[in-house]
Formats: sequence, structure tokens, C-alpha cells
Amino acid sequence: MLVFILNAGTSSLKYQLINAKTSELKASGLVERIGIDGILKHEVGENKKLTFELPIPTHKEAIELVLRILTNDETKVINSIKEIQAIGHRIVHGGEFFKESTIVTPDVIDKIEQLIPLAPLHNPANIMGIKICQELMPKVPNVAVFDTAFHQTMTKENFLYAVPYADYTEHHLRKYGFHGTSHYYVSNETVKILNKKDSKIIVCHLGNGSSVCAVRDGKSISTSMGLTPLEGLIMGTRAGDIDAGVIPYLMEKKNLSSNQILDYLNKKSGILGISGISSDLREVIKASKDGDLRSKITIEMLCNRIKKYLCSYAGLMGGVDAICFTAGIGENSDLIREKVCNGLEFMGIELDNDKNSIREKGNREISKKSSRTKIYVIPTNEELVIAKDTYNLTKSN
Ligand code: ADP
Repeated sequence: MLVFILNAGTSSLKYQLINAKTSELKASGLVERIGIDGILKHEVGENKKLTFELPIPTHKEAIELVLRILTNDETKVINSIKEIQAIGHRIVHGGEFFKESTIVTPDVIDKIEQLIPLAPLHNPANIMGIKICQELMPKVPNVAVFDTAFHQTMTKENFLYAVPYADYTEHHLRKYGFHGTSHYYVSNETVKILNKKDSKIIVCHLGNGSSVCAVRDGKSISTSMGLTPLEGLIMGTRAGDIDAGVIPYLMEKKNLSSNQILDYLNKKSGILGISGISSDLREVIKASKDGDLRSKITIEMLCNRIKKYLCSYAGLMGGVDAICFTAGIGENSDLIREKVCNGLEFMGIELDNDKNSIREKGNREISKKSSRTKIYVIPTNEELVIAKDTYNLTKSN
């Protein structure tokens, strides 16, 4: 069954065409700068990469273009868009409405719309993606897969903020957590490897956006992101955890509006803010090797924050069977994995430096034989989860 996966953002969209039954990736790509100028990067299989630069004024034109490329003579992977049997959409915020993926109905769209105040940039773009697909492929079912859904198993003691309770009941103020599809995929792969009942796993999803998740018996019990994806770890451009007192202090000192302070914490902080070099960790690691002091501090701060979450989640679960590293930094940076694990031997966490430095594709163990806690690198695959959920929900149609 061919499933089209769509992740629609404000000025970009990512897509994949997957055979959900065999997990075969037919094609994938990214359209950027929609409404500005337009770039489409399309990949067929693992090798063939094509780039198109042409005006793409709207998301509808972007999706039409992608569908044309999928069926076009030179670039075609399918004969007709009629071969697409279902569409899976990545939706950022499902609030407390959605504890799992669901077939899109008018009521589902209405609920995603109600959640716009909690995800003002993402949910409108996600809804637009759904509506365009409904228009362009009216007979094809759409499925919504939520970034927040996996964390809906968190209980109140782990998701409430210590503020007046009425703000939870009246204004939905609570921790929701994000990257749920990735935390689910990685922890599920790890459960299969561990082959153990009652597993205690900590997933470190370290990319441009980063979060840690404590997963007990396959269920999220706590995660570092909160009401929004701003809480928790130090990220590419996001500050992560910060004293709330910083906000009024800076607003007054720098005469900032609430939008400007949000912009400061979301886009100017994190790795970029501390290092002053880049939000791309590779560049900061390079500068640190060349002796740049602020880059060195950035890396230490980043790893200390991850360590703090690892230790607190191990404490929360009363131990940890496995720690998993995933996403751009987690999968590729042996330096960050080493710095995070270093010093945690007292908890039974022993990294094997040789295994850690080997670059290999696929799931791999990087802990010493003697390590009580296993350490793994597990490449994430959110799109595959979306494809499988979409397949499972629509196969009887
Ligand atoms: P996104 O959250 O946008 O999906 P990714 O998961 O692709 O991002 O992660 C991007 C991050 O991964 C960037 O900060 C990039 O510098 C980092 N990264 C990729 N490869 C390496 C590497 N070899 N060493 C260190 N960081 C890396």
C-alpha cells in the first residue's frame, strides 16, 4: 500500500512516498522557501538526487509540483497519483484530544484548529496540508499523526506545572512534550532488542530541536519539552530550561515585547546564542577544536544539560536498562555521546569508546560488555511510524 507522508510547515514541506507494507521508501523530498522563491529537493531511493529552483508561490502549488514529479516521465516512481492509497500527516499539537493517530474527519480538523493557540505556527500549516490533499486527492483517506500523542501517557505528577491548578483546567496549561513519534519509534526498537518485560529506557533525541524522554514499559512517563518545544535541553537556537524570572528581567532591560522575547529564546539562543558561531553543532565542534573558548563552553553546557535529564529520569524510574541516542547529533556525534556518558559509570553506564567511534548505519550498541545499562545508537524513522499508522487505520477501506 502506497502512503504519501506530508509534514507541512509555514514556508516549507517535507514529503515521502512509502510502501507501508514493505517499508520501502519510493521517494522523498523537501520544498523550501514557499512564497519566497522556491526550491524543491527530491530524492529517489538512496542515490538519485534532484534539485529544482522555480517559483512556488503557495503550498498548493508545492504539493501539485511534488505530485507531478512523482508521476512525471523522467522522475516518475508511480504511473498515476491514483496509486496513492492514503496520506499520513505529521501534526505537531494534538493537545489532550489525541492519544493516538486518527483518520481525519471534520471533527478532527476542528480539534486541531482549537489547538492553534498552543502551536500557533505549526498547527495552521498542518491543517493547510490536510485541506490541500483533500482538494487534490478527494477520494484518498487522510490520517493525522501527532507529535504529542505518545506523551499522553504521562500522569499529572509529571505533566503539571507548579502553578495554580485552575490554569490547567481552564487554559490547558501543562507539559505536552513533542518528538513523540521519534521517542516511540526508538524506544520500541530498543524494547525489541532488549527483549525484556518492564523495561526502563531513556531516549535522547538530539537534533536541531532536542528532547529526552523516559519510557517505562513502552510508555512515556516524562519528557523534557513542555507546553511548547522551548523547554528542556539546549537546542540549535532554543534556550531550553531557564529561570522564568529571566523573561520580565530581559523584557524590561532590552525593552522587548512578548513576541520579541519569544523570538530571542526560540531563535537567538541555544547553541547559536552561546557560541555566537552557528546553530549547527558541527561548526561549533570545529571551532572548539580550533581553540574557540565559547564553543567549548557551549559543548560543555549542552552535554551537562543532557546529563542532568538522564540522571533525573533514571532516578524517576528507579534505574535504566538502556540509553538511546538518535537524530542528527545523537546518531552522528561520538564526541557528544562520549561527553554525556562520561562520569556516569557510578550508575552502571559504561561507554565503549571504540564502538562509539565506529560510523555504521542502522541500530548499534556502543556500551561495554560489563555495562549494566546498555547504550545504543538508534537512527530514528518518524516517517515509517506515520506510514504504518496510516496503513493500519486505512487498510480496511
Ligand atoms: P532536525 O531537528 O531539523 O530534524 P537533525 O536531526 O537533522 O535536525 O539534526 C541536525 C543537527 O545535527 C545539527 O545541529 C547538525 O550540526 C547535527 N549534526 C549532524 N551531523 C553531525 C556530526 N557528525 N557531528 C555533530 N553534529 C552533527
